[in-house]
Amino acid sequence: MTKNKANPQPIVPESFTFKAETKQLLNILIHSLYKDRDVFLRELISNASDALNRIRFELLTNREVLDPDAELSIHISIDKENKMITLVDTGIGMTRDEIIENLGTIAQSGAREFIKTASEAPNGNENNLLQVIGQFGVGFYSVFMVAEWVRVTSRSYRLDAEGTSWYAVGEDDFQVAPAEKNDRGTKVEIKLKEDALEFLEEFRLKEIIRKHSDYVGFSIYLGDEKQQVNKQTSIWRTPKQDITEEQYKDFYRQLTLDFEDPLFHIQLATDAPMQVYALLFVPAKVDRGMFSIRKQDGLKLYSKNILIDEYSKDLLPEYLRFVQGVVDSEDLPLNVSRETIQATGMMARLKKILTSQVLKDLEELARKDAEKYLSFWQEFGVFLKQGIASNQPEAEQLQPLLRFRTSAHAGEWSSLEDYIQRMQPEQKMIYYIVGDDPKSVLRSPHLDYFSSRLVEVLLLTEPMDSFMLMGLSKYKDFELKNAAVEKADLPEPPESKPVINDPIPDTELDHLIEIFKTQLGEKVSDVRSTKRLTQSVARLVDPEGSINPEMQRVYKYLEKDYTIPKKILELNPAHIILKNLLSLEGGSELQKAIIDQIYESALLVEGLHPDPASMVTRLEQIIEAALTSSSAGKEPDPSVE
Ligand code: ADP
Ligand code: MG
Repeated sequence: MTKNKANPQPIVPESFTFKAETKQLLNILIHSLYKDRDVFLRELISNASDALNRIRFELLTNREVLDPDAELSIHISIDKENKMITLVDTGIGMTRDEIIENLGTIAQSGAREFIKTASEAPNGNENNLLQVIGQFGVGFYSVFMVAEWVRVTSRSYRLDAEGTSWYAVGEDDFQVAPAEKNDRGTKVEIKLKEDALEFLEEFRLKEIIRKHSDYVGFSIYLGDEKQQVNKQTSIWRTPKQDITEEQYKDFYRQLTLDFEDPLFHIQLATDAPMQVYALLFVPAKVDRGMFSIRKQDGLKLYSKNILIDEYSKDLLPEYLRFVQGVVDSEDLPLNVSRETIQATGMMARLKKILTSQVLKDLEELARKDAEKYLSFWQEFGVFLKQGIASNQPEAEQLQPLLRFRTSAHAGEWSSLEDYIQRMQPEQKMIYYIVGDDPKSVLRSPHLDYFSSRLVEVLLLTEPMDSFMLMGLSKYKDFELKNAAVEKADLPEPPESKPVINDPIPDTELDHLIEIFKTQLGEKVSDVRSTKRLTQSVARLVDPEGSINPEMQRVYKYLEKDYTIPKKILELNPAHIILKNLLSLEGGSELQKAIIDQIYESALLVEGLHPDPASMVTRLEQIIEAALTSSSAGKEPDPSVE
């Protein structure tokens, strides 16, 4: 207000009402959060830093701005007498409209989300949430945790803009009025609450700046000091030994809003062949969580400390898309389009450097901390398999990172290296079997032959495994072979187990095979006997020349209508069930039912049965027959026990 009578129009502030969700947010901040109030300073500094970044960007192409030569910096001063602190920046500033919109009336989806998250946060997590308030786009309001009132006075960089002030006490509304301000930028004046006078102490502010804002890319001056308080280099350009574990975590949290700590981080600083700084993180979980702010995959790409792409997807191969972080390279030209950067081939080189660093660090983790590596593998293993499937140039670096369950160590994870270390002396191949889950695949008849010779078989039971095999035909000198297909000629078992049953004589066997063929008809392409089975009655194999089972799976996943080609049913002539089957009345309902059941059981262990529940009726029929024959005083038929 002015008392100058010569000016007939006093400056009357105009009053505006905060949006409903902003009021609610202010209410929470003022009344329920008392711990970690420090963050208000970080938020104000971060806003000042954003504003400085924006003017710096503008200045690259436009010198027609207010104060083009002003130092880009932040000044913080303390006024103990009036219990005030003031932040001044020479950033982009705000016009009257911008100040009204940005600090009060813009619809705040972030505020709504913050309130919702705060109300759902597990007890004790409210303060974690406060730590990341800036990520909800409402950081400014955190100042009301410590402020009795706040006045923001700003002048935009635009030559025709005038100064404006904004004033609020954190209740329902705020006032806006024209204001005297001659230089570009924003001044935030805070009158501290009585219970927040600790922030009048210089050492306290210094401590907060060092903790939370050390890496802000502009000088921060405190009081009358000429020396800046902050280090000013970004965290990813700071030498590893100068960064604490806490600072890494803090940075990760700010970057991703993940409440969990990252599993581990990868820091890279190189000069040749390119200058690159990178700080990358592998999250603890594959699921980004509800409140993650990284809605897309990709790394933040900076050049000379200026953000040029928020979600750069060209810095790592697609299969490493779970990696989060920041990449900064002096060598990328600023101010040119993404397409141009790409055309220079620099992105390709950058990608190569980063990929190889990530894989190197994963390899090191696997070597030095097997347990942590396994928790990585369980979350992200499928991504590495995808990498193998897509035939990447770095496949050889990927192979040692793979982990498998195997027939001999089903409860553990083994690497291919572990596997070849445990191979039998005469073994020349790596065997695998594909199926739906580790438990059922362990019952596969295809394993009989290998188990009896103590030869280990990899259990591949994830959909991605079949795709992975397209890019994994060999590890070192050992080819990978499907145990269900391979005509392995491994030596006889070390100590031949005594033969419990003599096989069915040939003539009877031929007869039995005919019975099977008649009963199964078109369902199979052939029926024959095999010597490969020891424990199982029967198994299904593919006719010579047909595609591998894993490729059949690939087709099945890719094409809904794909039908698995007809298989050959192989019988174990030494199995007691088949012997007893022969003794049943030829062509009887029971004999037919058992033959159907043998076939469908084989389908089931193969993971190919379209409708396992449909077997129930037949099984009941067989049980009933067994019970009838035993209650008739006969020996129970062992084949249906
Ligand atoms: P965010 O920074 O995430 O956008 P804030 O609540 O911290 O959310 O700030 C709201 C908006 O107010 C900012 O986006 C910016 O437009 C404006 N603002 C705040 N502080 C400044 C400042 N010092 N200089 C210029 N604009 C600012
Ligand atoms: Mg902010």
